[in-house]
Amino acid sequence: MNECVFCRIARHELEAKVVEEDPDFIAFHDAHPVAPAHLLLIPKRHVASLSEWVGVEPDVAGRWLLRARDLASTLGFAKSGYRLVINTGEWGGQTVAHLHLHLLAGRVLQWPPG
Ligand code: 5GP
Ligand code: ZN
Repeated sequence: MNECVFCRIARHELEAKVVEEDPDFIAFHDAHPVAPAHLLLIPKRHVASLSEWVGVEPDVAGRWLLRARDLASTLGFAKSGYRLVINTGEWGGQTVAHLHLHLLAGRVLQWPPG
């Protein structure tokens, strides 16, 4: 069995504050939020990073992005704004090796990131 922490959340083996899920994706609150709303949206099927998501159906990748957009909207941030982030690899600051998209919202976010 895959011991990846996000795979374990996707299988509901590890506790997380799940917001929504479907057969392909699951969204849950980040354990260490850096904004008033900080959620992670992941494909349930393990893939280490965006760079390694080779052979993914463009439709699946597109649905992932639009789900994040709709999640932001459901949470009430469509008008005020929000940020979607995909940290990728060492220099990108990725710390969990299971592809995930951060949804950050609820405060004014600075640019550029560090
Ligand atoms: P990364 O730095 O890889 O882009 O983001 C990984 C994120 O996963 C971090 O924001 C971190 O707080 C979050 N995280 C790490 N382990 C867990 C966990 O077990 N549960 C939840 N809900 N979030 C986690
Ligand atoms: Zn995984």
